[in-house]
Amino acid sequence: MSQKIKIRLFVATPLIEQTSVSLDEAPSHYLIHVMKAKIGDPLLLFNAECGEFLAVIKTISKKNVSVSLERQTRQPLSSPDVWLLFAPLKKDQTDFVIQKATELGCAKIVPVLTKFTITEKTRIERFKAQAIEAAEQSRRLDVPSIDDAVPLTKVLANWDKQRPLYFMDESGNGHDVFSIFGAARIAKENKAALLIGPEGGFSDDELALLRSLPFARGVSLGPRILRAETAVAAALSCWQALVGDWTSAHDESL
Ligand code: SAM
Repeated sequence: MSQKIKIRLFVATPLIEQTSVSLDEAPSHYLIHVMKAKIGDPLLLFNAECGEFLAVIKTISKKNVSVSLERQTRQPLSSPDVWLLFAPLKKDQTDFVIQKATELGCAKIVPVLTKFTITEKTRIERFKAQAIEAAEQSRRLDVPSIDDAVPLTKVLANWDKQRPLYFMDESGNGHDVFSIFGAARIAKENKAALLIGPEGGFSDDELALLRSLPFARGVSLGPRILRAETAVAAALSCWQALVGDWTSAHDESL
């Protein structure tokens, strides 16, 4: 039933059965003007803490929609604890990275500034809005957190050494994904981070630094040079398939 309902919205407020929620201006505007919603229309509301609820529109005013929460349809479920570190790209490619990383179940996104990063303009509010939209359409229950952009060297200096950092290394010197992520699976690693370089790749200094760090491991994504945004999707897909939540069926519908 809940899968047939087309409208699915993230709300940050607590969701409690048999209570009413007054939606903020942006989702209200979306419902009124984009979806042309009417009183009595069903929709789904979700967040990481409360899961997903079936709701029904009760009132529509000029700028505000209120809904009543009928029943819970899914219990809270967190995405695997895998982070994405990526160097911001041109606008469309960065949009793609945020959307695909969210669809692919990444828990946290960290824009990192490397020597060859082409843009230092990081539009964090836009990234957050895109992550929410991608979570809504992909039936995720949580939305990845998005950090402010930070220099790669600073991230590495403050790294939690218990979290393996897999850096995608196009030089041919990285481990193949099956052996490295297969070992992570056997070790039951429950957290990880994937780092993808900018269009110009990592500098020699950055590669030397990464290779010297005990918590960092180079990974090869095959013999072809992928665009950075392709490498993001490929790396996350491989990690999810071998270590993350592609390894078991998930249907937590109530
Ligand atoms: N430096 C390269 C060049 O200009 O020839 C291209 C860098 S590539 C477009 C951007 C990033 O994607 C790389 O830094 C790396 O993290 C990742 N990447 C691309 N192809 C890869 C591969 N075959 N194996 C591992 N990582 C790859």
